Amino acid sequence: MDFKLNYKQYSDFINIANNVFYPLKNFVNKKEFISILEKQKIKNKFFPFPIFFGLNKNQFNKIKKKDKLIFFYKSKKIAIIDNLKFYSLSTKKIGRKIYGKKFQNHPYFKIFSKDNYIFLNFNIKKKFKHNTEPDNFVSPSKFKKKIKYIKYLSSFHSRNVPHAAHQWIHKKLLIKYGGLLIHPLIGQYQKGEYKDSIIMETNIKASKFLKNNKVFCIPFLSYPRYGGPLEAALHAIVRRNYGCTHFWVGRDHAGYKNFFSKYQSQRYCKTNQRKLGINIISEREPFFCKKHNIITNKCKNKNCENNKILISGTKIRKYLLNKNKIPNYLMSKKISRLINLNSLIR
Ligand SMILES: [Zn+2]
Repeated sequence: MDFKLNYKQYSDFINIANNVFYPLKNFVNKKEFISILEKQKIKNKFFPFPIFFGLNKNQFNKIKKKDKLIFFYKSKKIAIIDNLKFYSLSTKKIGRKIYGKKFQNHPYFKIFSKDNYIFLNFNIKKKFKHNTEPDNFVSPSKFKKKIKYIKYLSSFHSRNVPHAAHQWIHKKLLIKYGGLLIHPLIGQYQKGEYKDSIIMETNIKASKFLKNNKVFCIPFLSYPRYGGPLEAALHAIVRRNYGCTHFWVGRDHAGYKNFFSKYQSQRYCKTNQRKLGINIISEREPFFCKKHNIITNKCKNKNCENNKILISGTKIRKYLLNKNKIPNYLMSKKISRLINLNSLIR
């Protein structure tokens, strides 16, 4: 029977098949799922976030009696799978482990529960080799060949059009480590977020501004899970697998509207740095100091607390929605002239 993968299932499949989530080599089975939730471990290796194949009730009813499926994404044949094993796991239990005690208040939890009525584990019987990956996908093995000669490669995760604070971080990382991978997450699906194409276009532009052959910009084809610290740690593992030596964990990294505290993800990743196998850069968030007319994350002048202007993607999107000009201290003119209302998912 044909089974149409949605984007989340497809991107997870492609990432697993290409070792983006190494040491994970398949969608988790029930035992692995529990081991990751309870101990953040898979086969004795640190792994913070379960990558599972969830089905909603509708999907389950269609396939529950089948013993073989052909995965499709859009019109492309992806793989034949068999040995289907369905398993249940309480979404409340999962929610509590991933989002914490207040999981019921997490705005994403409802969607999560609905999407994951039951889970599926399977064997890949045959993966179709031709064109199963999206055109813009770059595998870790391919990327690592390109960076063989580089000693230190820092990495930066974003799911935004780069604003002035992002560009400040790019520069800082490049100066300090000599190499930089700008690795935007592509695969947003919420209204009001930027479209994938514009995120890539503007980040590639920003990478070119740095005029350095040790600066790269490739997409991380995935989707936001809003999982806070545990997802931030997954993001670090992804960058390690792409050969990076350092990873910048941002303010409220992988969070959702301040559900987690501002530096919770940073603290978690820093604490688990050795297990993650990549150096975690945990710095304060940069801001614009209007008195000294600079972007910094520590203005030396003590009185500058009151001169702080926070730079955020949300703020910038408000300017866009209201059709107002975006101030240069929030976003460089070279970037802001590339975006408009049509850059947003609506
Ligand atoms: Zn200042």
